[in-house]
Amino acid sequence: MNFLDYAPAPESAAILNLRDEYGLFINGEFVPGNGESFTTISPATEKHIATVSCANEQDVDTAVVAARRAYEKTWSRMSGADRGKYLFRIARLVQERARELAVAESLDNGKPIKESRDVDIPLVAAWFFYYAGWADKLEYAGMGPNPRSLGVAAQVIPWNFPLLMLAWKIAPALAAGNTVVLKPAETTPLTALLFAEILQQADLPAGVVNIVTGAGSTGSALVNHPDVNKVAFTGSTAVGRQIARSTAGTSKKLTLELGGKGANIVFDDAPIDQAVEGIVNGIFFNQGQVCCAGSRLLVQESIHDDVVERLKARLSTLRVGDPLDKNTDVGAINSASQLGRMHELSNVGEQEGAERWSPACNLPSEGFWFPPTIFTNVSTSHRIARDEIFGPVLSVLTFRTPAEAIAKANNTPYGLSAGIWTDKGSRILAVADKLKAGVVWANTFNKFDPASPFGGYRESGYGREGGKQGLHAYLAPTVPSRSALNGANR
Ligand code: NAD
Repeated sequence: MNFLDYAPAPESAAILNLRDEYGLFINGEFVPGNGESFTTISPATEKHIATVSCANEQDVDTAVVAARRAYEKTWSRMSGADRGKYLFRIARLVQERARELAVAESLDNGKPIKESRDVDIPLVAAWFFYYAGWADKLEYAGMGPNPRSLGVAAQVIPWNFPLLMLAWKIAPALAAGNTVVLKPAETTPLTALLFAEILQQADLPAGVVNIVTGAGSTGSALVNHPDVNKVAFTGSTAVGRQIARSTAGTSKKLTLELGGKGANIVFDDAPIDQAVEGIVNGIFFNQGQVCCAGSRLLVQESIHDDVVERLKARLSTLRVGDPLDKNTDVGAINSASQLGRMHELSNVGEQEGAERWSPACNLPSEGFWFPPTIFTNVSTSHRIARDEIFGPVLSVLTFRTPAEAIAKANNTPYGLSAGIWTDKGSRILAVADKLKAGVVWANTFNKFDPASPFGGYRESGYGREGGKQGLHAYLAPTVPSRSALNGANR
């Protein structure tokens, strides 16, 4: 151990009171599924955490029937103020159980505890608080007077922010008066199941939220169920495309939040040390498994060498390892298949001529690990500059003029996020205006707020989550009655 090494500071998992087996959460109760159960493991150790039921088509149907009944009998008849009270109660319970939820999230997903504790779970509570406030103010959402809820929402979420994505989906749906059937990702079902316990604690009426666990076939049965009115999906562009095809021609309202290849643009007048912190946060937060990650660094040619040198020095201080250790900066990769994709694309990067660099780090012998990695000498045609790696891998490209930076940033089939680092406010506004990205951060990166809409262009999907715009996905304007129209014509 060096003199200045950190001593281990593991967060205790003793706070968790997990069951050995979890059923599906349907109509307010845990029930066994009819599919073949699966196990959820810790990606840091590959150790078994719990056995989880799998929902087949019949279970999905039972869940949708429960959601429909709850919609008609209770939730759509309840006042907005009363719906808001339930959401406030859920938010407070999330806060009360925050430490337990953070430990469970890090255990199941592999993300560092300091991120689940300081980012994911506080944002989950914030999302429920924010939409609780909207529940009795829907007429101000910009959808005209008395907008209508849609009915039953089918929601499928990924594994990178398991509980946060659940909150992004469930909070606006319930605030707007819809009921929900949600499917968490197969590698990270744990916090959704703990959330089901929170719903029981909150006395949420049975059937308002149902959670069906399983893999792609469960998700497919859910989004294709004929009695859902709304489909919300976050995940890969390939599955998003399939869902867009299967819902086309139906009356289901669809929002898709897919992948990205965000450009983080650093101009020569930027405060370099702050920019380096922002670059690190942009691509190494959550092991880079972030749809809006700043995975392409566009740095002005005159400061390239300086930025890369400082970046390498900073990466050498990142601590990679046990997600439950409070000092850990970079945790485990979520699954073996995700890790395989990182290896494959990084190897292609080397074969195509880019230069690969990682700091020296001792990776644990068990579990799924990938060192923080930088590629320099990357050109726009390289696959590592085009494909979403979804890992702690940064591709560095250069530019000379703002116009070139904009052209390179927009040279991607995606359009989710971008970052601009410069001293000049006028340049921020001028460049942001020309970037084809749903979210543009200036002199910061990866900042989220429930009041701020988030979503993409092109292959990054469509629709917005967060803010009052996030309610539009779950509301329909009330069609004016014939007499009202006649009155207006007079
Ligand atoms: P995925 O799209 O396969 O899985 C996301 C969710 O969709 C999971 O809950 C999964 O069970 C479900 N699903 C899978 N097939 C389905 C189907 N046919 N119908 C309905 N639901 C289905 O994503 P993945 O395999 O976990 O990750 C692959 C890639 O997706 C990643 O490398 C990354 O590029 C991208 N991704 C993006 C995000 C994001 O936040 N936008 C999140 C995770 C993954």
